[in-house]
Amino acid sequence: MFSYRHAFHAGNHADVLKHTVLIATLSHLLEKDTALTVVDTHAGAGLYRLDGDYAGTSGEAAEGVLRLLAPGGKATAKTAAKTAAKTTAKAATKPAADAPLAPALADYLALIGDFNPQGGARIYPGSPFIVQHLLREHDKLKLFELHPTDARTLDANIAQLEAGRQIAVLREDGFGSATKFLPPPSRRALVLCDPSYEIKSDYARVLDFVAEALKRFATGTYAIWYPIIPRPEAHDLPRRLKTMATKAGKPWLHATLTVKSSKIVTDAATGTSHRPGLPASGMFLINPPFTLKPLLAEALPQMAERLAQDRNATFSLDAGG
Ligand code: SAM
Repeated sequence: MFSYRHAFHAGNHADVLKHTVLIATLSHLLEKDTALTVVDTHAGAGLYRLDGDYAGTSGEAAEGVLRLLAPGGKATAKTAAKTAAKTTAKAATKPAADAPLAPALADYLALIGDFNPQGGARIYPGSPFIVQHLLREHDKLKLFELHPTDARTLDANIAQLEAGRQIAVLREDGFGSATKFLPPPSRRALVLCDPSYEIKSDYARVLDFVAEALKRFATGTYAIWYPIIPRPEAHDLPRRLKTMATKAGKPWLHATLTVKSSKIVTDAATGTSHRPGLPASGMFLINPPFTLKPLLAEALPQMAERLAQDRNATFSLDAGG
């Protein structure tokens, strides 16, 4: 328990998928004036240094967000808006490495650019800072983090924002406690559930959490990230979430991004075998904004192409309800 530290993985392909979906979803929800509450059940440390010891050790960002940045790596809101405006339907159906970026990816890179005014992506915002960056004064953010070190870092990072009562950091079990904020007084909420799945029981706890949350607040928007790995619980999770949404009569959306094969690799020289790092991940949403599917239909082919690590790179996008 608690060997997972998100700092090793910040900015990897799974973060690209998760944070692109998060930004597109939140941007739509913020178009309405009524206050929104965002609940982040597994918040992490909030901010990461991609040139720091942790990120440097795994180098996962190099195969993730850093690949999306142009050489020289500057992606400001301005350049992203320009590339987004140029995006054509043709580019979306047949992405090329030099094609203009899809609007959802452009928005993602623009936000990363806002944290890195000098260019590149030395600073990588985790979900708490991505959300806080987009929220308006009357919106609320509830952050759950249990790891003692990450909770302390998150506390310190959030304190610098001087956001007062807008943001609450809770050193509590996100699965067990986050539903206490549902429904929020304004009856508008986005719940991000992004566990580390370092223990097998996390998969069942996600299902219990979503079932309880839907019971309390059926009209909330729920976004669940999960790893696609060869393990029955991971395979079953989206199927069970789909059943849950369908039984509740709620619309859902399921997006996946694969960057490489999950097959065990054998080193020809040494004969040693090892599992590749995370090959794929998915985002499952209940009550997604209607704008999300067309945005992802443009962005996912580009993610698969630009983040591919071998010929197995692909994506899927499915919705119902
Ligand atoms: N959501 C973050 C982001 O996108 O930047 C990344 C979160 S990371 C995948 C999962 C985090 O959940 C880790 O920091 C871990 O310490 C924390 N965690 C694990 N079990 C938890 C629990 N039961 N409640 C709250 N946090 C937990």
